[in-house]
Amino acid sequence: MLPEPAPVPDPAAPAAAYPAPRLYVDGAWIASTAATVRLTDPATGEPLGELPLASDEQVLAAAAAAQRAQAEWAASTPLARFQVISRATALLRERAEAIARVMTLEQGKPLSESRREVLLSADIIEFLAEEGKRAYGRLVPPRTPGVVAQIVSPVPVGPAALFTPWNFPLNLPARKVGAALAAGCTAVLKPSEETPGSAIALAGAFHDAGLPPGVLNLVCGAPARISELLISAPQIRKVSFTGSVPVGKSLGVLCAQRVKRYTAELGGHAPVLVLPQVDVQGVAALSVAAKYRNAGQICTSPTRFFVHESVADGFIDAFAAGAAAQRLGHGLEPGTTMGPLSNARRLAEVGALVRDAVERGARLVCGGAPRPGPGHFYAPTLLADVPASARIMREEPFGPVAIVNRWTRLDDAIGLANGLPYGLAAYLFTQDLGLAHRVAARLEAGMVGVNQFGISQPETPFGGVKESGLGSESGSEGLAAYFDTKLVTIGAG
Ligand code: NAD
Repeated sequence: MLPEPAPVPDPAAPAAAYPAPRLYVDGAWIASTAATVRLTDPATGEPLGELPLASDEQVLAAAAAAQRAQAEWAASTPLARFQVISRATALLRERAEAIARVMTLEQGKPLSESRREVLLSADIIEFLAEEGKRAYGRLVPPRTPGVVAQIVSPVPVGPAALFTPWNFPLNLPARKVGAALAAGCTAVLKPSEETPGSAIALAGAFHDAGLPPGVLNLVCGAPARISELLISAPQIRKVSFTGSVPVGKSLGVLCAQRVKRYTAELGGHAPVLVLPQVDVQGVAALSVAAKYRNAGQICTSPTRFFVHESVADGFIDAFAAGAAAQRLGHGLEPGTTMGPLSNARRLAEVGALVRDAVERGARLVCGGAPRPGPGHFYAPTLLADVPASARIMREEPFGPVAIVNRWTRLDDAIGLANGLPYGLAAYLFTQDLGLAHRVAARLEAGMVGVNQFGISQPETPFGGVKESGLGSESGSEGLAAYFDTKLVTIGAG
C-alpha cells in the first residue's frame, strides 16, 4: 500500500523563498542572459525561477578570469587563504536556514537533510582550508657533493573546471571548490542546471567574504557544451567531475587528449553483506534510514543486500515495516522523511527497473509504484529474491529501491558483491570483527562501512575503484588532487 500523500505547501511561498538565480564571473553577478531554463519544485512541479544560461563567450570569460586571478591567489599564503575561506564558511553557517530551504525547494530532500548538508559543507571547506596550512613538501638529501638542497614542494595545479550533479547541490561543490581554493587554485564551477541555487549561495558567501574577483566563477548552460569548452580551454589545468559513469568516461577522454589532471566520482551499486547472528532489527533499522535518505539518490546508497539465509526473512520483514513507516511529502513539510525524486528522468528509470525485475520473477515486498498526483514521488520499495537476469542487479537504481537476496556461502556473497564494474562503497554487518577485517580486505570498493553506513566525513577520503572513479575527494587526499609536485635543486653556486 502506498503511503498517504502529504499536504503540498502553498506554491507561492516556496517561489518567494527561492532567490533569482544568477551566474558569477570575474567577481560580478550576471542576472540575465539571452537564454534561460525554468527551475521547478520536484515535489509540486511549480516554477521556482528562470536560470540564466551562459553564452560560449561568457564561459570562456570565466576561464580567462580564473587564469588572471591564478598567479596572485597561488602566491598568497595558506594562512591568508584560510582567513578568507573561513569568513565564507562562517557566512554559510549564518545563512544555513535560507540555503537549506533553497536546496529543498530545488532538489526535494527533507529540510532536515538540507540543513545537515549545508553545515557539513561548511565543515568540509573549513577542513580543506586548515589542511592547506599543512601541505608540506620535503627536503631530499643530495647524492652528489656540491648540491646544497633538493626541495620538493606541492604547487597549485592551476585553474580548475568543476562539474557537479543535482543530488548533493552544495556538498559536492564544497568538496571541489574547498580543495581547489585551499590549494591555491582558482576555479570555474558548473553546478547542475536543475539545482543551481545552493551553489550560487556558496559563490555568494565567498563573494561577501572578500574573495578576489576571478578566483571562483560559476556558469550554467548546456553541460556537454560547457565541459567541452572548459576542458579545451588552455587556461584550465585540472578537471573534477561527479556524476554518471558514461559522462565521466567522456570527460576523461577530453582530459586525456589534453593531458589534464582529472578526478572523477562516478556511480556505485553498493552491496551490503549481512552475516549470521547479527541484531536483525537493528541492522534493518539502520539500512532503512540509509536507503531512503535523499530518496536513494546517493552514489553510496546501500542497494544490493546479500543476507545470510538464517536471518533473511526477519530482515525482509523488519525492512518492509521500516519502508512502510516512511512519510512521503514536500521536504518543507514537518514530519516528511522522504521527498520526491529530483527529476522526471529518475521517476521513469526507477519505475522501469522495478517493472523489469518483477517481470523476471522478483518478489515485490512493498512499494513499486509512483505516488499519484503532482511531483516525482515514488514509493519506498523493497524487492526480494531478485534473479541475476534483472537489470536492477547490474544497473544503479539511484532511487528508493532496495534488493534483498539470500546466501549460504560467504565466498559466494563476496563474489556477488564484487561482481559489477562498480567499486565505490560496500557495507558489512557482523559481530565477528576479525572476520570483518578479512571480508573488508576482499571487497573491491574504495570505502567499506562495517556495522554502519557513515563513510563520508570531511576528514576521510571519499572515492571509488574500478569504474566508480579516479582519485578521492575530502581528507588530505582531496586537497592533494589540486597540487602538482615541483622539484628545485640548488647547487653551491
Ligand atoms: P547524466 O549522466 O545526464 O548527468 C549526471 C550529471 O552530469 C548531471 O548533473 C549533468 O548536468 C552532468 N552532465 C551531463 N553531461 C555532462 C557533460 N557532458 N559535461 C559535464 N557535465 C555533464 O544523468 P542524470 O540523469 O542527471 O543522472 C543519472 C545517473 O547519473 C544516475 O543514475 C547516477 O548513476 C548518476 N549520478 C551520479 C551521481 C554521483 O554522485 N556519483 C550524482 C548524480 C547522478
